[in-house]
Amino acid sequence: MLNEKMLQLGTQRSVIRELFEFGKLRAAEIGAENVFDFSIGNPSVCAPESVTKTALKLLQEQNPVTLHGYTSAQGDATARTMIADSLNKRFQTNFTANNLYLTVGAAAALCCCFHGLGNPGDEFIVFAPYFPEYKVFIEGAGAKMVLIPADTEAFQIDFKTLESAITKKTKGVIVNSPNNPSGVVYSEETIKKLATLLKQKSEEYGEPIYLISDEPYREITFDGTVVPFLPHYYDNTLICYSWSKSLSLPGERMGYVLVPDCVQDARLVYSAIAGAGRSLGYVCAPSLFQHICAACANDTADISIYETNKNLLLKSLRQMGYHVVEPNGTFYMFPRTLIPDDIAFCEKAKDFNLLVVPGTGFGAPGHMRISYCVPTERIERSLSAFEALANFYR
Ligand code: PLP
Repeated sequence: MLNEKMLQLGTQRSVIRELFEFGKLRAAEIGAENVFDFSIGNPSVCAPESVTKTALKLLQEQNPVTLHGYTSAQGDATARTMIADSLNKRFQTNFTANNLYLTVGAAAALCCCFHGLGNPGDEFIVFAPYFPEYKVFIEGAGAKMVLIPADTEAFQIDFKTLESAITKKTKGVIVNSPNNPSGVVYSEETIKKLATLLKQKSEEYGEPIYLISDEPYREITFDGTVVPFLPHYYDNTLICYSWSKSLSLPGERMGYVLVPDCVQDARLVYSAIAGAGRSLGYVCAPSLFQHICAACANDTADISIYETNKNLLLKSLRQMGYHVVEPNGTFYMFPRTLIPDDIAFCEKAKDFNLLVVPGTGFGAPGHMRISYCVPTERIERSLSAFEALANFYR
């Protein structure tokens, strides 16, 4: 007998992948330039030149046996020190290599947290709209995901519902800001309120409630929006980071878990994260890219196109009558669909060769996710299709 749960996960249809396949078929029929695929969140800009230069330098100058060899399970000490130094410079902190566990992307970082912190039956709270893999990762760790419905006016946090959802089983709360799929950044006021509530509840239950901050989009912000650095607000914060989006390296699989010293029993928590990494086989992240990301930790790809795209799309969609909460970052926006049934709406959008993802999968029906990490010219050409779709429902 196979593991039924794993079999189900491995065979379940993926809405985004189906849209992607549909797009390929349509492109063969009507030409790729006439298909407006906004389904996938794959960065559309190159990694910065510093990545290529560092890669070439390492390949030309380093001993290949060492360069491609195993590193420590938690990552090479020099690479971790360079990453800690970069964080210290940017956030006025005092991290060292010992606070960092390098992983294959934020996905593995999150899994290490859920496995390392959670016991069977523990609960992790997630705010809609949310990255759907959280459910898979949390349940994979034998824990339960508790979903807080979206605050659809601003995509901040509905504190009343949150407060009543926290129980003695709550092990952690996951925040993702800038957010996939809404693009919204939690305000400092939201973060302060969250920190106060979690402190109060941790004291009430006599156990820390961990704040797990999933931050693959930290650097992709607009109009000078500042993303609060959560360990400055709440001691029991763990950060899951990724270079997939900031350096445009999603296929290279590099990220980390940061366990600050202010976390209660920080060394034990770090050991549990390392133990989870070991039990999942997530040891020794790709060696070459550990060194590249460490050397380029202060850089980003040229992410300015995302803001250009956001401005164009936001203004145009609002003019057409779509309701959109303005994103402060990422390369996603999450407008309301023009009918409550987002699945039917996104299906209808395909008739106009518009590929957008229903909000239901992100825990917020009545919305659609638009991934605008695409050439600006694709957005320009898609506007008449968005208009025609709106006209269909008028
Ligand atoms: N968390 C969020 C919110 C994401 O959007 C993604 C990827 O799109 C991930 C985590 C996983 O990132 P990674 O590529 O680093 O595994």
